[in-house]
Amino acid sequence: MNAELSRVDLRSDTVTRPTPGMREAMAQALVGDDVFGDDPSVNELQDKIAKMLGFEAALFMATGTQSNLCGLLSHCQRGDEFIVGQMAHSYRWEGGGAAVFGSVQPQPLTQQADGSLALADIEAAIKPDDAHFAITKLVALENTWGGKVLPQTYLNEFSAFALQKGLARHLDGARLFNAAVAQASALGTSPYDEAKRIAQCFDSVSVCFSKGLGAPVGSALCGSKAFIAKAHRLRKMAGGGMRQAGFMAAAASYALDHHVVRLAKDHELMQYLAQSLSGIPGLQFEMPQTNILFIDLVGEAKAKGAALQAHLKQAGIDVTGLYRLRLVTHLDVDRTGIDRTIAAIRQFFQA
Ligand SMILES: *Cc1c(COP(=O)(O)O)cnc(C)c1O
Repeated sequence: MNAELSRVDLRSDTVTRPTPGMREAMAQALVGDDVFGDDPSVNELQDKIAKMLGFEAALFMATGTQSNLCGLLSHCQRGDEFIVGQMAHSYRWEGGGAAVFGSVQPQPLTQQADGSLALADIEAAIKPDDAHFAITKLVALENTWGGKVLPQTYLNEFSAFALQKGLARHLDGARLFNAAVAQASALGTSPYDEAKRIAQCFDSVSVCFSKGLGAPVGSALCGSKAFIAKAHRLRKMAGGGMRQAGFMAAAASYALDHHVVRLAKDHELMQYLAQSLSGIPGLQFEMPQTNILFIDLVGEAKAKGAALQAHLKQAGIDVTGLYRLRLVTHLDVDRTGIDRTIAAIRQFFQA
């Protein structure tokens, strides 16, 4: 074990490293040239994720950002617009790609506290058929959003509403499987069934393999055959035609088979962490629903963000945020690491 591994890295679930089983799957992967369409591992992954989420087709992408970009541009032409949350990743954290590369105008809306867009707000934002306005084409949601699971009843209503308004529906489901696992735990159903139930409220879904699922890189965009054909052309333009990508696809396939159900462990560990920190003066937070905890430093603690981060770093614990800490559980964090984190935070606040 190298010293790096003894650090407790709670900055993000993107920091996970491939497990021995995943490395073995990568080493054994059959590969070809995916630009010619003959990488068997890429084809297998695309078939697997499309079927799993109930779509006709899927496309392996280098990143979630590339996947959202190709998705948005497959739905929208120059001069179209997409409605999206003010704090959504595909609007705020992706460099404005849809506007920059596609001349597609975002119409951001303030989200509700649960991450949803109020249907009345969407309705009010739809532009009339008038030469003054961009053409409203699409609504994009995100699930989970900041670790919160959009309620299934909302998704059902949203889906019917968008269909009735003739708007396309895209889901940034970077952490779709975290949402599915949380929903499945609450209902006693299968995470795979819940993932499909969520996905079927949309025309296209982007899902990340490189976050809680633990693959080194990659995302998939899912949709109809015609939609994915368009996205394929866009992916080429975006420099995403990868050759022996099967090594990465094999890791993603392995994650879909072996790392979905175990996300529940990350959620349980996060519950334990949050419960153990509740009641410490100066820390304010909502109980987490999945694997992400945001902690606001309030009152006297507000000025102590940098000192707290340094204290944690000293104790071998990495987090992000100065006034609003972000802690994320994942495959490479265990109970021992979380106990160390709790102890270090308590020690800092002498709680
Ligand atoms: C991480 C993330 C993305 C983008 O993924 P990258 O692979 O980092 O480009 C998109 N949406 C959400 C919600 C994410 O968390």
